[in-house]
Amino acid sequence: MRKKIVAGNWKMNNDLAQTQTLISDLKKSLPATDAEVKIAPTYTNLYPAYEALKDSAIEVVAQNMHQEENGAYTGEISASMLKSVGIKTVILGHSERRAYFGEDDALLAKKVDTAIKHEMDIIFCFGEELEDRKSDNHFKLVESQLKNALFHLEAAAWKRIVLAYEPVWAIGTGETASPEQAQEMHEFIRKTLADKYSQDLADSISILYGGSVKPANAEEIFSKPDVDGGLIGGAALKAEDFIGIVKAI
Ligand code: 13P
Repeated sequence: MRKKIVAGNWKMNNDLAQTQTLISDLKKSLPATDAEVKIAPTYTNLYPAYEALKDSAIEVVAQNMHQEENGAYTGEISASMLKSVGIKTVILGHSERRAYFGEDDALLAKKVDTAIKHEMDIIFCFGEELEDRKSDNHFKLVESQLKNALFHLEAAAWKRIVLAYEPVWAIGTGETASPEQAQEMHEFIRKTLADKYSQDLADSISILYGGSVKPANAEEIFSKPDVDGGLIGGAALKAEDFIGIVKAI
């Protein structure tokens, strides 16, 4: 059985006090669930978040990581630094990192290798822009993102990978992919994995959907057979909404 996952990507939101309040609210209202629940606060709040949640069912994950080991990379954070404060999972390839910080597939392939070398788990994000979908290029684009950043991996490394399909046109726009559009793409992704590796491997990989998921639409999206959970942005910033989404899985 694949893992079900609900992960909150807090992006560049919440200072220390806000982080502590939100964590305390989440701890109070988290329902019993078989799903894995994760939150990704910003760097400065990773360690306090980890300390506050280490005995709970919520995992704290990082939003990004540098591809090199420690050294002269001003402003960057390494895998070993993350691990030293208890972080075992990192989000890589988010469309905001791709769009605003020039992260391309080749760089992401290096980040993936570094994370795996450090025995970290990865939530790997990808997804097409609106133009790709309008020009009916979305399947090709998604396939190339997977191939270029992940298909050099041996099958064994995939135990560390969770995929997160996030169509760029649905992120922070209030415009969600329909459950049918999400299912269609997730099914395509799983088939692409089966063709490259094996059906067993493809069936074992959790594929999350991200893009304007809210309590009101989560249940329908999560009901699709190839959707194994969600990566949540805006709605992860309010305990009530995030918990509502956890309840929907
Ligand atoms: P929204 O849920 O705000 O659309 O963001 C999705 C996202 O980018 C999660 O990584």
